[in-house]
Amino acid sequence: MRNVVIIGSGCAGLTAAIYAARANLCPLVVRGHEAGGQLSLTTLVENYPGFPKGVQGPELIEMMQKQAAEFGAEFMEGQVTRVDLSGRPFALQVEDKQIEARTLIVASGASAKMLGLESERKLLGHGVSTCATCDGYFYRGKPVVVVGGGDTAAEDAIFLTRYATEVKLVHRRDELRASKIMQDRIFRNEKIKPIWNSVVTDVLDVAKGEVTGVQLKNVASGEETVMPTHGVFIGIGHSPNTALFRGQLDMNENGYLKTHDGTKTNVPGVFAAGDVQDDIYRQAVTAAGSGCMAAIDAERFLEAEE
Ligand code: NAP
Repeated sequence: MRNVVIIGSGCAGLTAAIYAARANLCPLVVRGHEAGGQLSLTTLVENYPGFPKGVQGPELIEMMQKQAAEFGAEFMEGQVTRVDLSGRPFALQVEDKQIEARTLIVASGASAKMLGLESERKLLGHGVSTCATCDGYFYRGKPVVVVGGGDTAAEDAIFLTRYATEVKLVHRRDELRASKIMQDRIFRNEKIKPIWNSVVTDVLDVAKGEVTGVQLKNVASGEETVMPTHGVFIGIGHSPNTALFRGQLDMNENGYLKTHDGTKTNVPGVFAAGDVQDDIYRQAVTAAGSGCMAAIDAERFLEAEE
């Protein structure tokens, strides 16, 4: 039986692993389907403290993993396919293996929703981004496109006006879903130009390995056009990876895990950290911070039991 099992190997899970390992709890990290989390899908990270010249996302994740392994954390490839939190120890199934855990840290993250285009996938990190806060700075003096019509897209578009010469906000309908206050900010901002009733049907140019434009289709007229741009920010929302816990852990209306008193969930002994419980900040450093909190909470929980 494991003292601590950590589900997820992004910033939150790995920080929890470092702390739990240093507390001699020999944590087991189940790496999950998107090993390394969202940082492993990005390029240069310039806002993680301690790296004045920035650090590549995948490199940062690799260093965190090495640091956790150094203190005795163990790693397991694969995805948790079933959890039973109805009694202790908690029971987990990782593909064909059964694991028992005295405490569980859920750090399974959230995945950015994507349009589902092959070109979008191939150019991710090379002009296609799902994080304006992370990558906006690279588009100083350049025009960019933001896709989406909700608060995420609105927030991204407004943030990007700090750097970009112009932000085209491509939305599939003729009205935004974003909150009224965000809509007002969008319409007042001269740098933002909404492109209504339009969907991105292709991101150019995979052959060049960089973004040179997007192909747009007007869903009302059927007309197709190419719009030159240097960056495409996909802002159509995130999905927390919480399907596994439905009916067992409390969630908000968007499916994010609810925590209280630090990282506690409604099940004693189960803690949640990182984007799986945060639909507001969603930063590497905040995920790392809550991973640290979850490990300390798990350690204190185990101590109190002994
Ligand atoms: P959201 O409200 O679900 O909006 C997603 C947007 O993307 C919608 O406009 C949707 O179009 C569009 N979209 C979805 N799938 C698409 C696709 N395949 N192709 C093209 N467009 C697509 O998601 P969100 O903006 O991430 O917001 C989620 C929640 O977090 C909301 O409750 C929001 O208020 C909250 N949030 C708050 C803040 C803030 O307060 N600062 C910031 C971010 C998020 P349709 O409109 O046509 O459906």
